[in-house]
Amino acid sequence: MIIEKKHLTGSRNLDNVDFCIIGSGAAGGVLAFYLSRAGKKVVVLEKGAYWPPEELGMREVALSTRLLAADTFKPTSGQYSRVNILHGECYGGGTVSSESVTWDFPRVIQEDWAKLGLTSYSPDNPKLEEYRLELRRLLEVQPVADEHHNPNNQLLKIACQREGIEWASVDRPCSFCMRCGFCTQGCRYGLKNDSANTFLKWANEKGADVYTGAEVTRIRVNYPEAGDWPWSEKLRPANPARKAEIERQLQTRQAPHQGHKFTVEARMTDRKQRLPRGVEPEALSLTVKARRVIVSAGAIASPRILLRSGLNTNGRVGKDFTLHSGAFTLARFQDSVIDCNEGINDTVECTHYMDFYRDRPYFEPERHGFFIEAAGSLPWGIANLLPGSGTQHLALIKDFRQIGGMEVTVKGDGVGQVTEDAILYDISDHDNERLIFGSQLVAKLFFRVGAVECYPSFPGMVLRSPEDIKLIENRQGRRRLGFKNKQSHLHSGHAFGGCIMGLDRKSSVVDERCEMHDLKGLFVCDGSSFPTTVGVNNCLSIMFVARKTADQILGLA
Ligand SMILES: Cc1cc2nc3c(=O)[nH]c(=O)nc-3n(C[C@H](O)[C@H](O)[C@H](O)COP(=O)(O)OP(=O)(O)OC[C@H]3O[C@@H](n4cnc5c(N)ncnc54)[C@H](O)[C@@H]3O)c2cc1C
Ligand code: SF4
Repeated sequence: MIIEKKHLTGSRNLDNVDFCIIGSGAAGGVLAFYLSRAGKKVVVLEKGAYWPPEELGMREVALSTRLLAADTFKPTSGQYSRVNILHGECYGGGTVSSESVTWDFPRVIQEDWAKLGLTSYSPDNPKLEEYRLELRRLLEVQPVADEHHNPNNQLLKIACQREGIEWASVDRPCSFCMRCGFCTQGCRYGLKNDSANTFLKWANEKGADVYTGAEVTRIRVNYPEAGDWPWSEKLRPANPARKAEIERQLQTRQAPHQGHKFTVEARMTDRKQRLPRGVEPEALSLTVKARRVIVSAGAIASPRILLRSGLNTNGRVGKDFTLHSGAFTLARFQDSVIDCNEGINDTVECTHYMDFYRDRPYFEPERHGFFIEAAGSLPWGIANLLPGSGTQHLALIKDFRQIGGMEVTVKGDGVGQVTEDAILYDISDHDNERLIFGSQLVAKLFFRVGAVECYPSFPGMVLRSPEDIKLIENRQGRRRLGFKNKQSHLHSGHAFGGCIMGLDRKSSVVDERCEMHDLKGLFVCDGSSFPTTVGVNNCLSIMFVARKTADQILGLA
């Protein structure tokens, strides 16, 4: 059942819950389905509102601010770069506003993780292929037909062909699509197989309850178990008599709570209510007593929930935060109508320099490890990205129909930190090199197909010919600033880390099963548990890790 504040008459306390899942996005949806299918009592707490299909789509500004978290519009606090991190906050999480470009969890990343000691992710594990095929089948993932690429996507395809570099038609989780172009506002036809339309729906059918508008404020640990730090340490060298005494003490603490190791505290509000500025919404309290808790609130919120709950025993929570950073370039054409907001948005990608082509002879680790998407946008998004102000800006907006867009996204290796109220993050020198190289390539591709002007992600910068492409380096004397420049507009929809997976409790937060090293029964499974970035659109990778985690929790893998 989907339960909103309007369905409650007062505060509510739930107990006897097997799994309390925090967050209903890519990971939370998958976990809710597989655990409830196995007969477990599952309660999902979701901070954002529930938007049924008929309330979605076609309202760009209104929905961007309702489907996405408010801090999407507040950039990271870096010393020399700024990145806006887009992340979903609604029933279905980021999958609802996703462009729905779908890539498998890359094999090279499985190999990388296996090298980190996470051997169950090795491509030799036959279960992984089963999970991959199962998810693709359930989500009805299929390639976009060639005749369904809109003119903006056709431009990228033709430009890559002219340049002699590889491109691909992307896969999407849709068996049928009206091609309305409003994917980022949620699919009003219910055709996009996001978490809301698939795993959450099936979890509801299996008896899971999803509370929406329910923001988790704290997780309380009611009693420790032998595997929890520091008890695990105390028990290790103890002589048998001492050990038996400690175990007895642990059992005594456990008894009054009847196996409910955790209490999750949340406040429920009506997220659709429009209130005057400064007026706090009326809130009800919701507490869930659960045997096990899975934090799947995304790479920004998951570490914050643990930090606010004082669950950071090894000091690693919030650390090792990584991103795929992206830079848009728009281009204006003289006579051709592009209408980049019509039809499906991202259906063609330039794959030539992707990280998973590391074995290609032309691959240079310093510059490659990025992809380019034909990223059109809706009018408000385009208006925000066009340079200039006043009459200059207005003149460009008038040419809206002749504007195309492409986006370069790098598999970032800058490492930052999520704190309770900030994100400390800077792109690395390596990211900067790739963003410069990638954005120069984008401008070159646009000029190859007849653009008259290109507008990279720097305020006021206009490139009028291929000779201007070097301006993207942003030289200041002998220094190349590139995107290490707070004026540049960088953004990311792909955040990772903050509660990373690893073997060692001193350097990571969760183990290979996504269970906290220091607190048994508390799992963190979503983008935050990824020890590395993945180099492709990441939604299916997150679902894949959640699928595997569900089986491991159930003892099936
Ligand atoms: C606009 C946009 C476009 C994207 N396009 C693509 C794409 O085309 N292809 C692709 O592969 N990926 C895409 N992504 C990325 C992908 O959607 C995300 O990486 C993915 O959804 C992250 O999954 P997650 O489970 O880590 O977190 P999320 O899906 O973000 O889910 C986390 C959920 O937790 C909830 N939550 C947060 N805090 C709390 C709290 N305190 N209490 C209760 N609930 C809480 C949030 O509201 C949210 O619903 C896009 C993302 C965005 C934002
Ligand atoms: S483009 Fe297709 S999947 Fe996206 S919102 Fe429109 S109908 Fe739905």
